[in-house]
Amino acid sequence: MPQIQHIIDFLERIAPPALQEDYDNSGLLVGEPHTEIQKVLVSLDVTEEVVEEARANGAGLIVSHHPIVFRPLRSLTGRNQVERTVMAALRAGIGLYAIHTNLDNVAHGVNAMMCRKLGLEGMQVLRPATETLAKVVTFVPQGHSEVVRNAMFAAGGGQIGHYDECSFNLDGEGTFRAGEGARPFVGQLQERHHEGETRIEMVVERWNVRKVISAMKAAHPYEEVAHDVVMLDNAHPTAGSGGIGTFAEPIAWSDFVERVKSAFDAPVVRHTNPPKKAIQTVALCGGTGSFLLSDAIRAGADVFLSSDFKYHEFFDTEGRITIADIGHAEAESGISQWLVDQLADFKLGFPNFAVLLSEVRTNPIHVS
Ligand SMILES: [Zn+2]
Repeated sequence: MPQIQHIIDFLERIAPPALQEDYDNSGLLVGEPHTEIQKVLVSLDVTEEVVEEARANGAGLIVSHHPIVFRPLRSLTGRNQVERTVMAALRAGIGLYAIHTNLDNVAHGVNAMMCRKLGLEGMQVLRPATETLAKVVTFVPQGHSEVVRNAMFAAGGGQIGHYDECSFNLDGEGTFRAGEGARPFVGQLQERHHEGETRIEMVVERWNVRKVISAMKAAHPYEEVAHDVVMLDNAHPTAGSGGIGTFAEPIAWSDFVERVKSAFDAPVVRHTNPPKKAIQTVALCGGTGSFLLSDAIRAGADVFLSSDFKYHEFFDTEGRITIADIGHAEAESGISQWLVDQLADFKLGFPNFAVLLSEVRTNPIHVS
């Protein structure tokens, strides 16, 4: 039977926790990592009703997009719905795991799901993440470069966008002198040794640097492994906020509105002046996206599709873009099913393991 930690490891390969925003609280919020579980329930939000649904179905873990605990809890007395939900989960022995802004911030996550629903192609990240990349450099005796390179790739090094196994390799000559107590791989004690070496360098996501370095050291024949870690200022090609994509054929505003309503099951679209020409390029962001409005304008999008715009923010288009606001739960409505689909791959390793999609309507907002 899988443990909660196995599911966490799987989900964190999809959305590294290091990509969550500073204000967020993604991760395991309730429960012990080594608890064995047979079923997982997936939901956009966690409420008391969702916990009850998990209990009734024998699910030991709820995976939600939104974290139920967002601000620190100072007590657990059941005085509000957050405390009551956490207490209900504790009483029922159900773990709570949130995969929130880290899933917003991977290119294959929430925004890709929204692009697919709308039929947008060629999605790019709207505001690429910075301070996420490093370069790892090491120097390996030439006969050993392949095994070290392979170990670094296997640990996650050398990935750039849709490419992996990216590295640069330059042959040169290294020198060293082994001192008292050393057990050199080649050369004699107290004598300067010259060795033909390959300089291997590759891009590594910062959260993988330690893993790549320990794999590199384990595969490297030298006792002391010379290596550099350099922080890069480059933007991440496949991580960041929001997305932008294009329709194969431009579509009229009225068709766009209908498509949005049916794709997201949205009862209403609140919007600014419709664009004067047919819509080709759409920027979007699941959840609260107003912080990306200027990025969407700069990127030349015809429409910015998101949610949670405040009255005054609708003035900020300057006539250069159309805001389309479909509501928070509607924008993210496909994410639970998407997570269920991803977890199907996890299930393959555990024949009796089940993943359930919550049937509880958690959206507190109704439109009359
Ligand atoms: Zn959200």
